[in-house]
Amino acid sequence: MRGLMKTARGPGNLELKEIDEPRPKKDEVLIEVAAAGICGTDIHIKHDQAFYTPPVVLGHEYSGKVVEIGPDVSQVAVGDLVVSPATQYCGICYQCKTGHMNRCTAEGKKILGTSLANGGFAKFLTAPEYIIHKIPQGVSMEEAALAEPTACVVHSVIEKSPIIPGDVVVVQGPGTMGLLAAQVAKSMGAGKVILTGVSADQWRFDIAKKIGVDMTIDVQVDSDPVKTVMNESDGRGADVVIEASGACIACNQALDFVKVAGHVTLLGIRGQSLDIDLDIMAIKELTMSGTWGTLPSSWVTTLRLMASKKIDVAPLITHRISLAEWEKGFELMESQKAIKVLFTEFD
Ligand SMILES: [Zn+2]
Ligand SMILES: [Zn+2]
Repeated sequence: MRGLMKTARGPGNLELKEIDEPRPKKDEVLIEVAAAGICGTDIHIKHDQAFYTPPVVLGHEYSGKVVEIGPDVSQVAVGDLVVSPATQYCGICYQCKTGHMNRCTAEGKKILGTSLANGGFAKFLTAPEYIIHKIPQGVSMEEAALAEPTACVVHSVIEKSPIIPGDVVVVQGPGTMGLLAAQVAKSMGAGKVILTGVSADQWRFDIAKKIGVDMTIDVQVDSDPVKTVMNESDGRGADVVIEASGACIACNQALDFVKVAGHVTLLGIRGQSLDIDLDIMAIKELTMSGTWGTLPSSWVTTLRLMASKKIDVAPLITHRISLAEWEKGFELMESQKAIKVLFTEFD
């Protein structure tokens, strides 16, 4: 089979390589990949701007069908349709013991598609049974390939942000994570979700309206976005602001958008240090949360939200291509012409 591999450290070094089909170890399942999404992290790995251990087949957002199981596998069967997180946690380190499996400190930790374990940009991959989640009925394989980014958002927004029914929530940045965060906030009962972006995001705003976003603000056109948010929240400010753009200016704006005693959620990482006035945190008595990856519970909630149609990820899938066209897929992501590009053919 062929796999899209990061072959060595440094920028580039991405190649479609002929490799042996994997065999499941005794506690593993062999998965035939149905769909796999290109993530910002894959772009960062391409440019040598993220953690990875080459050589490795990329792809940590995938769905697939179990085609073989190891002898010790008991809860997953051949034919099951499945997804999984990328990180394989040890279960015995301090972080795992205290419920922070996403921050497992085990040495030589395997991360599918990133480090010491090949990912889903190939026809087959193997994964240990304990990280597998079965895809519920009514969720397509393409939708399930977005379970990983959705689970990251669920962890950040449902498990770590104090949104209650009726809240005014501002989401900054209409990329994959922002569009998912807007829907997740709605699923928690947010009364009004306002999405901010720039003029180039107009087509993303159109998708946002289709998935239930109440209002969009183009911060390059609106002369006073803070005033607009105040007007939409009875002069108080947003109850919760979710920063999903990764832009420096947005972090400062988040502190202005949020109400006194409100909450700012940082979704993902910014990749740079910020020039930011944290005194506003004190003056406004704000709380802020950050998260890293997912917990097993994030996946359970994600798949339930998908099955019950509380969130609809299908409108975020803008392109479907074959693995052979990987260069086109990466180009679409890098030029920001796509929201989610899925590989759906692997031969
Ligand atoms: Zn990702
Ligand atoms: Zn651990």
